[in-house]
Amino acid sequence: ADAEKLPRSVSQEAHRMVEHVHREQAAEIVVVGSANLDTTAHVPRLPAPGETVLGGDTGESVGGKGANQAVAAARLGRSVAMVGRVGDDPAGRRIREALTTQGVQVDQLGSTAGSGSGAALIVVDESGENMIVVAPGANSTLTAAHVRAAQELLARAGAVVCQLEIPEEAVVEAVRLAGGRVILNPSPVRSVPPEVMARVDVLIVNRSELGAIAGAPEPRTVDDAAALAAGVGGPGAVVVTLGADGALLVDGNTRVHVPAVRVPTVVDPTGAGDTFCGALTDALVRGEALDGAVRWAVRAAALAVTGAGAQSAMPTAAQLATA
Ligand code: ADP
Repeated sequence: ADAEKLPRSVSQEAHRMVEHVHREQAAEIVVVGSANLDTTAHVPRLPAPGETVLGGDTGESVGGKGANQAVAAARLGRSVAMVGRVGDDPAGRRIREALTTQGVQVDQLGSTAGSGSGAALIVVDESGENMIVVAPGANSTLTAAHVRAAQELLARAGAVVCQLEIPEEAVVEAVRLAGGRVILNPSPVRSVPPEVMARVDVLIVNRSELGAIAGAPEPRTVDDAAALAAGVGGPGAVVVTLGADGALLVDGNTRVHVPAVRVPTVVDPTGAGDTFCGALTDALVRGEALDGAVRWAVRAAALAVTGAGAQSAMPTAAQLATA
């Protein structure tokens, strides 16, 4: 009633502002997940326990499965918002800035006072072998209430994407509030509540995750993977990434194996799985069928392994179209 007393121009202006906020709060894809600042050092060989090895220069980059998958989809042209937590520290500001530069909306990537940002410490030797320590930091402070604050985003998005680098209550709430497709990449593997699995449209796992979830040895062949995939997940489809063997889609009675794209040299496989998840979601949101989406994701992931780093090697739609 009070609004009616306002001069018309003021109420119109207020309406425009509300619309503006709503428009900013909309995204085709919402990723509810982790964001870290990764520090990488290159060393001649990995240290033994108690040993100190001198390394070369260190480099910093934004990582975390959530951030990686968000950037992968944004590079391919989708509007993407991230829901998560960073620390109230310089690393948190860097993470938010870097994601914004990549076109990822960070309004719902809040900072938690008194908590450090998630960090990964990575050492890589000359053969490409690595050792990684991940300190989840602020990622572990993401609550169901934080996720609820993004309710409208989640309800309106074409797809909601989760991994398991955040607390279970956040995943449960994200899936409950999702209005569109639900994509789950259960990594690192732990048990997934049945109410989450029941709502998952596409479960994306690699070989070792599939073995762990199925309670079986890691599948070696495509047939082994297909047999295991038929027994995991909920009512939705299961997509198994098979490294240099490509990917497998198991959807009800449908089974499609998409061989990997042959690449001249594998420079760095880091982030290939995250690129795959982001690209598959991009294609689904654009209205492609699942098998087409898997083919698109296999092509995107092949480009990702031919470049150094995770996010830096993720292709754009234009690069993928001409590849
Ligand atoms: P993760 O990195 O999560 O373990 P995978 O190793 O299965 O995942 O890789 C994800 C996807 O990246 C694969 O499904 C495949 O499409 C692509 N890929 C991985 N390794 C290669 C490779 N050597 N050549 C071409 N594509 C690859």
